[in-house]
Amino acid sequence: MKRPASPGAPPEHARTGARSLVEHTTSALTAVALLTLVFIVGFLVTHAASSPALASAMPAIYAGLIASSLVLVRKWKQDWNARRAGQAGAAHMAFRDPVTQLLNAEGFADALARYAPKNDDAEGSLAILCVSLGRLKDIYDRLGESCGDEVLRDLGARLVSAFGDDASVGRIGEDMLAVFHPASSGIKLALVGGQINRLMDLPVATPGGDVIVPSAIGVNFVDMPVTAPRDAIRQARLANSAARASGSGLAFFEASLDHAQRLQMDLEIELRQALQAGELQMVYQPQINETGATIGVEALMRWPHPTRGQVPPAVFVPMAEAAGLGEALGRYAMDRSFADSALWPGLKIAINVSPIQLRSPTFIATVKTLLAQHGVKANTFEFEITEGVLLEADTVVLGNLEQLRRMGFQIALDDFGTGYSSLSYLGRFPIDKIKIDRAFVTPLGLRSDASSIIRAISDLSEAIGVKVLAEGVETRSQLDILRAEGCNQAQGYLIGRPMQPGQITDLINAPASDIDSARAA
Ligand code: C2E
Ligand code: CA
Ligand code: CA
Repeated sequence: MKRPASPGAPPEHARTGARSLVEHTTSALTAVALLTLVFIVGFLVTHAASSPALASAMPAIYAGLIASSLVLVRKWKQDWNARRAGQAGAAHMAFRDPVTQLLNAEGFADALARYAPKNDDAEGSLAILCVSLGRLKDIYDRLGESCGDEVLRDLGARLVSAFGDDASVGRIGEDMLAVFHPASSGIKLALVGGQINRLMDLPVATPGGDVIVPSAIGVNFVDMPVTAPRDAIRQARLANSAARASGSGLAFFEASLDHAQRLQMDLEIELRQALQAGELQMVYQPQINETGATIGVEALMRWPHPTRGQVPPAVFVPMAEAAGLGEALGRYAMDRSFADSALWPGLKIAINVSPIQLRSPTFIATVKTLLAQHGVKANTFEFEITEGVLLEADTVVLGNLEQLRRMGFQIALDDFGTGYSSLSYLGRFPIDKIKIDRAFVTPLGLRSDASSIIRAISDLSEAIGVKVLAEGVETRSQLDILRAEGCNQAQGYLIGRPMQPGQITDLINAPASDIDSARAA
């Protein structure tokens, strides 16, 4: 997102170096000229007594010398001032963001450290706001750099005009603006009333059309003077993360956020170690067809933590991804599932695959290596992807999906109905199965429209040749309604909880009647 230097221009440090060399040389010459004048005056004064002609010309000579001295002294002063201004300008540039001309991260922290209230009745505390700009990268990618820069400048100007002269506004990250301002009650009201959020969320006009940049604001109130500015900004950033995570768009810093971050950092380190030590486990949840026969299993990861107990995958999977471990975790799940698949010939093993894995240009190579290492066939496996992957699908993702299918893997669309579900795009993507989310299964038998939705999804899936499986089936009556509405495959606690590999073996070896009666219980 940085504005590139103009092509062919010498680098800034080279230009500054050349300029200061010229300035120093000019100053030295001026100084030499002044010294020469002093020397001439001395010479004339000593020789005037012995030469009457020289003595009579002295007033004119003095006048000339004084005039030249004045010119030289003025020039020297100008050089001096120019050099001081140059140094101040360089310092100014070092503290400014080149795109918005707002303070940069350094400048913002510096201004915060040096801030002193202008009047004595200020409340004694400052509000530091970190304002994140969502989708900015997307805007740069889609509309180009000059549009992206324009959007940034517009949003920065909004903050400047909203907070007035008492505030300092900065751009402290690629997509993060920041403000600090005396924490007046007006500011507090404007924040709580959502005025700042609304102002930032107004559309920005660009040559490529209006764009909306969803913002989130984290606020930290600190006492003046601010002795640890970087800490204060970090805490405002933490509040910003909380505002984004909660979806509320606004959050205030509190000590628990600091603890949560520390816990998160500890967990991250422990997860890295668990992954390396092979301490993560795979459990498998059975899937059945219309006759109740187990036709497949979904591989689900577990982290039995030595002191914290079971850490849920809903916690550690996103954490691993945020920590850059997404591909390693995905590889681990495939490695274990490929190995365990040998236990159950004929069963389909469904493996969750994250968008991070699918976006990786090396994903296919990893899959091929693992297939070869374990000597297993692609058509034993199904990869579960989420709707978001299709929505933001780029050429790498689509290429990877198509290649997986050509290799013989099946693709299932997970959590169907929870995202931006559009049945219309199903036909356009290489999908073999959809998994109807639990949210559509739970209300079956409780809400009259619930079964119609299952019927609509089943009919359409049949029309486009895609299989359907319902997730989260917990009761016999849900299973009966699903079957009556054309959805024949099911997975859920009724059929079986996620279990150890050995238990799946027992399940498929048990007499059918036993399984059925247990399931019906
Ligand atoms: P998911 O892929 O939608 O997996 C189904 C989740 O629903 C599992 O939660 C499963 O235990 C739970 N579940 C199954 N049947 C029922 C039911 O009848 N009632 C209820 N209430 N829940 C049921 P789990 O194992 O906690 O996994 C949560 C999520 O974590 C998964 O959702 C998946 O998105 C992610 N995950 C798990 N393992 C992996 C993995 O190896 N890789 C990736 N990328 N994600 C994984
Ligand atoms: Ca899944
Ligand atoms: Ca699911």
